[in-house]
Amino acid sequence: MVLEICPVCGCKQINPERIVNGYQLKRCVSCNMVFVSPRPSPIDIENLYTNRENFDEIISVYERIAVLKIFEYQECLEKISQVLPGKGKLLDFACGAGYFFEQAQNAGWEAHGSELGEWAKAACDARNVSNIHIGSLDELNFPEEYFDVIYAAQVFEHLREPRNELQKLSKILRSGGLLYADVPNYHTLPMIFGRDKFTWNEPPQHINYFSPNNFSKMISAVGFSIELITTSGGLNWENLLGRRVKSDILNAYDNENININNIDKDNIYQEKLCGRKESILSMTKKIIKKIIVDPIFYKKLGLGINLSVLARKQ
Ligand SMILES: [Zn+2]
Repeated sequence: MVLEICPVCGCKQINPERIVNGYQLKRCVSCNMVFVSPRPSPIDIENLYTNRENFDEIISVYERIAVLKIFEYQECLEKISQVLPGKGKLLDFACGAGYFFEQAQNAGWEAHGSELGEWAKAACDARNVSNIHIGSLDELNFPEEYFDVIYAAQVFEHLREPRNELQKLSKILRSGGLLYADVPNYHTLPMIFGRDKFTWNEPPQHINYFSPNNFSKMISAVGFSIELITTSGGLNWENLLGRRVKSDILNAYDNENININNIDKDNIYQEKLCGRKESILSMTKKIIKKIIVDPIFYKKLGLGINLSVLARKQ
């Protein structure tokens, strides 16, 4: 019999939550963490991320996504700089094809990336991006207190032992250094009402389903003080009815014709900088978002589909 404990708080009282893609999800009675139980083995998880036979395919998916996310990366770097002035050493933990830390390098950081599979090195080498490290944190053995910033975007939902990995990250971050981490949020209305289709959130890739309370609790428990916690995105009628429409990112995953070379980057940037053409409807939506949705639903009630935290090591 496998001893089941909550990967966040260690509580042994666990109740069944739901079954997704043939995997049992359970909920911790103490902190409400939802997670796949029994846990996949370390070998199963390692195989998911290291056994990529077709490097070109995965590299091209990341390339298509990067085109759409470059502004987000730059905004995130600005947010980090506002809280931690000066540009020091940054680690992009589980960096994928390395587009975030490449942006950080361009902005003047000594930025590094770590990833499990060799395909990530091939992706970085193809763009002449240096400081890509392949291996687990144990294998890479970075010096203690080396980094000023650790960036872990969409990572903790994949990890077998999220709290232990966070502890290892904390060791290589200097005192006063910053952690930026984001995960998909389980505390959303479609999830609560069982309407969510788990698009992009399915096991075995995702095995941890955090909510604002237990995500911040896990981060505080290993010695961080939370500077900012917020959620964003997803509060629209398609999601509420459980008919999640495809996001740009999902489209990028599925549509091989989206290519970094034939996408009209200038147009995307122009729209981001100047906004789309305003109609009365779009302006009304923007005002409602600013005065109701952002402050109440996303920040206060924490119901957005993306959950992000900025925390400082004490
Ligand atoms: Zn728990």
